[in-house]
Amino acid sequence: MVDELHTFDGAQGADVACLIRRLKERLRTAPGSLICVGTSATLGNTVGGSPAGNPAADRTAELVRYATKVFGEKFEAGSVVGETLQPADQFLGKLVQWFAVPGLEEKEKLNPLAYRNQIDYVRAQHQIWFGDQGHLSGPGTDEWNLALGERLRSHLFLRNLLVLMDGRAVDVNDLLRLIQARIPGFGKKEDGEYVAWLLSSFLSLVSEARTGGQPGEPLLPFLQVRYQFWARELARVVSSVARTPQWRLAGDLKTEELRRSLPIVHCRECGLTGWAGTVKDLEQRVNPDLDTFYKAYFDFKPEARFLFPGEGIGLSLQMELPQFLCPNCLHFERMTDPRDCSNCGKPAGDMIRVWVPDMNVRQERRGGARIRSEHICPACGGQDSLTIVGSRAASLTAVMIAQLYGSPFNSDKKLLAFSDNVQDASHRAGFFKARTFTFNLRSAIQKTVEDAGGTVALSDIAGRFDAYWSQRLVRAEQMIATFLPTDMEWLEDYEYMRRENALPAGSNLRDLVRKRLDWEIWSEYTLDCRVGRTLEKSGCSTVEVSPTLVESAAESILLRLQNELGGLRSLDALTLLRFLQGFLVNLKNRGAVEQAEVPRFLRAGAETYALG
Ligand SMILES: [Zn+2]
Ligand SMILES: [Zn+2]
Repeated sequence: MVDELHTFDGAQGADVACLIRRLKERLRTAPGSLICVGTSATLGNTVGGSPAGNPAADRTAELVRYATKVFGEKFEAGSVVGETLQPADQFLGKLVQWFAVPGLEEKEKLNPLAYRNQIDYVRAQHQIWFGDQGHLSGPGTDEWNLALGERLRSHLFLRNLLVLMDGRAVDVNDLLRLIQARIPGFGKKEDGEYVAWLLSSFLSLVSEARTGGQPGEPLLPFLQVRYQFWARELARVVSSVARTPQWRLAGDLKTEELRRSLPIVHCRECGLTGWAGTVKDLEQRVNPDLDTFYKAYFDFKPEARFLFPGEGIGLSLQMELPQFLCPNCLHFERMTDPRDCSNCGKPAGDMIRVWVPDMNVRQERRGGARIRSEHICPACGGQDSLTIVGSRAASLTAVMIAQLYGSPFNSDKKLLAFSDNVQDASHRAGFFKARTFTFNLRSAIQKTVEDAGGTVALSDIAGRFDAYWSQRLVRAEQMIATFLPTDMEWLEDYEYMRRENALPAGSNLRDLVRKRLDWEIWSEYTLDCRVGRTLEKSGCSTVEVSPTLVESAAESILLRLQNELGGLRSLDALTLLRFLQGFLVNLKNRGAVEQAEVPRFLRAGAETYALG
């Protein structure tokens, strides 16, 4: 299949033509047995069923000659599939029979989140717009979907919608405003959420409806519904240095504005947010240059500095004088009370109280000591939890894919991902696949846990997971195809399985996958539970230490602590309990939880290679 067929003329056309011929030669393809397809958006209206002698027919003949040359296969006039545009009134044809639009009193029934799946939602929406059609089985059956198309064709709302859209793609917010302003019954005061749900409801019916269906032919979509969601890459996000900071993308700012804006860091554990930049040794001025900061940050260089608005947290800070940042020249200094900026003279009232924690630690190494700027959150102590605010296109896309694939309203999952860069494409594909593995695994774990119908011991989840899924994916090959992580695809048995559709005799791949999944499930609830969209962070399921066990542990050590440790004489039961709970959660989040592979890892001197 060759896309943008019209671009393959001249040298590039010859290139593709030779490639296709080589491919056929290598595969020993007999003439006429390779199906070649060329597509192009720019050829659109120049072809179609025009009578002979017409220029359009000439163009069709020209196109046939062209395709024959490129692909080296026979094409006929009938091979050329064009498009014919049908005007709205011709498409609608019928008289209007349905007028009513669901009113505000139906709002709750329009809410998609009130339904468990697509079928329930569509059935309810149909009932709202067209009343009960109980004699038909559906939705989802051909009969029902065809009948729906006919009903929609005679609904006034579809006509109005087509008039408002006027043959163009329309921003959904503009469309909602148009509906409110132009369709009778939607006053300006009308609830915006209700109108949005109403439009979704109607469009979901249009998407479900089918047309055509001559005997022996497949049904066609009633209308093509295309919903586009545009998101901009959140790269180089900066914040103005002001009392009320504003977040912007550096690419949108003028040099002058960039000089008073700084990159943003935040803690993914506790949400602490602040400015960042670099500071040279003895200088008291933040350098806002983004590339310098990014480099220093990712190299853990001591020049990287973090400035949090407001007062600091922690006892040692009370001894020190407060610091103030000048929003004009980014100069910062310690003073008891704000004074005019000693660098640029900006008045005292404009100075911003900040807290600049010392993040540097001394590291002894074989070649001597070095100073390293850590990314430990100064407020909550989260390890490596201080991250730069922003998200690149690849990560955003991976999240969108996971969202679409996890939705109960997506029963027919398909994905086409485009990249603006050919070299990048296979890397992106690998990235999405690896991320998709994690997201799929998470929903599979969650299903297992929900199936248990109550609290499950962490040590039982892996076993339950295997039992639950091998009941559904009966053959070992199905289990492997569903849950094999991308970094195990190189294994010989997997290659064999892909080729032969079965595992080789005596294969241990199923066991390897099981072992790996045990580890992944354990990490999901412990070591990795706070990084990314985990089951814990998305509020699906989490691990806790049994409260009764912690309580009895606290009870049994309270007296000893009070008697044997001088400073703890006045320790009370509640404080101890809280401390223990927090301490255990921290242990869990750092992976201090028993797992089959961990002893081997520890014996090898905490060598991660031993885990492989
Ligand atoms: Zn934090
Ligand atoms: Zn200043």
